[in-house]
Amino acid sequence: MITDLKTIALERFWPYVDKDGPIMPGMPDECWIWSRQPSNEYGQISVGGRDINIHVFSWLLIGGPKTTLGFLLHHKCANKRCVRPSHLVMETIVGHAEQHKLKRKTKGGINLSETNCNCKNDKRP
Ligand SMILES: [Zn+2]
Ligand SMILES: [Zn+2]
Repeated sequence: MITDLKTIALERFWPYVDKDGPIMPGMPDECWIWSRQPSNEYGQISVGGRDINIHVFSWLLIGGPKTTLGFLLHHKCANKRCVRPSHLVMETIVGHAEQHKLKRKTKGGINLSETNCNCKNDKRP
């Protein structure tokens, strides 16, 4: 399974990852941008006949645990094209909603709104 992911990554993931992405507010380093997808949509990659979201793929690639019911993968950088594993964090759905509420309060909902992150649409692998 892991070997498969690595093979897929070499052929269909890394060639399209731009490690020179923007540094988002509050983040220590650059986003890794999946360059193969229009800016307003989540990227997906086919693994074993199933489409999974590209940031979830990146997460699994480094051995991150599968998100189970009640959990999802949140973009700390609020950049939904980002696939840098260190910018992702597993959150409970309840905790996640709180985070977004907090961000909306502190940033006025301009850059870090729920729609920008769009974590709710995470497809579980
Ligand atoms: Zn990022
Ligand atoms: Zn989120």
